[in-house]
Amino acid sequence: MLTNLADTTDTSERRCDLLILGAGPAGITLALETARAAPQWSIILAEAGDLEPSSQAELELYDGQSTGTSKYSLTTTRLRYFGGTSGHWGGWCRPLDAIDFVARPEAGSVGWPIDKAELEEHYRAAHRWLEIADDNYAPARLEAQLQQQLIDFSGSRWFQNRLFHFSPPTRFGDRYRADIQQSTQIECLLNAAAIEYGYAGTRLTEVQLGGLHQQRIKVKPARTVMAMGGIENARHLLLLQQLGWSAAGIQSDKLAHGFADHFGLSPGVLQLPADLVYQRTGSATGPVMPIITPTPEALTEQGWQNACALLRIAPAAERLPGSYSQQPALGFSGAETWTYDTQMILEPRTNESSRLELTSQRDALGLPGIRLCWEIDPRDFQSAQDIFIKLTHELGRMGLGRGQVKPLHIKRRLQAASGVAHHMGTARMATNASKGVVDANLKIFGTENVYVAGSAVFPSFGYSNPTMTVVALSHRLAEHLIQA
Ligand SMILES: Cc1cc2nc3c(=O)[nH]c(=O)nc-3n(C[C@H](O)[C@H](O)[C@H](O)COP(=O)(O)OP(=O)(O)OC[C@H]3O[C@@H](n4cnc5c(N)ncnc54)[C@H](O)[C@@H]3O)c2cc1C
Repeated sequence: MLTNLADTTDTSERRCDLLILGAGPAGITLALETARAAPQWSIILAEAGDLEPSSQAELELYDGQSTGTSKYSLTTTRLRYFGGTSGHWGGWCRPLDAIDFVARPEAGSVGWPIDKAELEEHYRAAHRWLEIADDNYAPARLEAQLQQQLIDFSGSRWFQNRLFHFSPPTRFGDRYRADIQQSTQIECLLNAAAIEYGYAGTRLTEVQLGGLHQQRIKVKPARTVMAMGGIENARHLLLLQQLGWSAAGIQSDKLAHGFADHFGLSPGVLQLPADLVYQRTGSATGPVMPIITPTPEALTEQGWQNACALLRIAPAAERLPGSYSQQPALGFSGAETWTYDTQMILEPRTNESSRLELTSQRDALGLPGIRLCWEIDPRDFQSAQDIFIKLTHELGRMGLGRGQVKPLHIKRRLQAASGVAHHMGTARMATNASKGVVDANLKIFGTENVYVAGSAVFPSFGYSNPTMTVVALSHRLAEHLIQA
C-alpha cells in the first residue's frame, strides 16, 4: 500500500513489526524480502520523497558543507524519492572479491567481520533483484571472439582478466512499485522523512515522520532499519549521538569516520595489440566489461590495494610511436598496435580523517546540517602507480607491448580527484564498538532493535561498485530479522 503523508487524512499513530527508513535499493529489497518470508509482519517503509524526483526545495534538505581533498557535491550524488539513487545509477555491478573481506593493514584495509562465503547465497539473490542473468565474473565463458580481444594472462601470476556485469539498470522505484503497492503487509509512507527519534535504554521507541508539508505521523516500531544512504544514515546516527543516546555503537568514535568513495585515475598509457576490448561490450548473457586486475596472490605478496584497469584509445597527444612495439627484432609480434589510456579504479584505504560531522545549522525540517570532509590517502596514488608499473613490466615480459608511466604529482591528483557517488564506510561493520558501529548482523552495538542497511556499513571497499553488495546485505538482513 502507498500512502502520501502530505495529503492523507489518517495521521494516527502507527505500530509495526518493522520500520524501514528510506526506499532506495536497500530499503525496498529489505521490505519485500521480509514481507515474503514473514507474512504475519506489518512493515512501514518510510520514504522522504514522493514517487517522482524531488523539488529543488526538497533536494536542498540534502545540501551541506564540503571540505577536504576536493569539493564533493552532497546534492548531485544522491536522489530523494521512491527508488532512491537507483533513479539514475549506472548499473555497473560486481560482488566484492574474497580478499576484500580480509584485513590487510599493509593495504589500509580493516577487513570485514564476515567472509565472502557468508554472502554467496545473498549475492545470488542480488543478481535477481538487479536483473542480471549471469553470475560468472571470470571471462572464461565469454564467446571466442571476445576472448581473443583480451590479453591472455594465463602465463602470468600477477594479473588476470575479470568482468563487470550491468544491471539494465534496475530503477527500483519503477520496477518494484507495484509489488509495494499491492502488498497488504507493507505500508509505504511517501513524503515521510524521519525527523525525530525517541529512545529508552537500549531500544529505539518511536520515530516522527514528516516533510515540508505540515502533516506528521508518529511510528512506534518493534525494530527499525536505517536505509537512507551512506551520508543520511550517518547524519541521523550523529543526531542520536547529539541527543545523548549512550548505546555503544552510537557513541563509537568510528561513527561517521572513514567515509570513502571510489575514484578513477590514469597512471599511464600502454602500447598494446590493436582491437583489445576492456570497455563495455555485448555478450551472449548481457552487457559485460572486461577489466584487468591483480591476482589475489599479487595483492597479498605486494601489499597492493585491490584495483582494476580499463583501457581506452589514448588521445592523439598521448600516443606512443607504434614502430617500437612492432619490431620483431625487439621480441614483439610485429602486429598492429594502439596506444591505450589506462583508467584505474582503486580500493581506497580506510582513512579515519575522512568524515562527516554535524554543523550548528538546521534544515527546513529542523535536522542539524552536515559537513563532509572527504580525504583521500595520498598512498592510494602510489599504490595505483606501483600496480601499473608492474603491469607494464609484465606486458613487456609477455612480448605484448610497452607502457609509459605518468608522473605522480600527488598534490595535483588530489585536487583533481572526483568521487563517483559511492558513499561508504560511515557506520562500519565490526566485531565491537571500539572498531565500528554495527555488528556482523548490522545491529547497532548496544541497541536491541536498530539496524543499518546500505554501503555505510562497509568497513573496507574493494574496487567494485557497491550496489550489488548493498542489495545482498539487505537480503541477508531480512533473513536475520525474521530469525532473531
Ligand atoms: C550518478 C550515479 C551513478 C551511480 N552508478 C552506480 C553504478 O553504476 N553501480 C553501483 O553499484 N552504484 C552506483 N551508484 C550508487 C548507487 O546509486 C547506490 O549505491 C545505491 O543507490 C544505494 O542504495 P541505498 O538504498 O543504500 O541508498 P539510496 O539509493 O540513496 O536511497 C536512500 C533513500 O532514503 C531516502 N531518505 C533520505 N533521507 C530520508 C529520511 N530522513 N527519512 C526517510 N527516507 C529518507 C531517500 O529519499 C532515498 O529514497 C551511482 C550513484 C550515482 C549518484
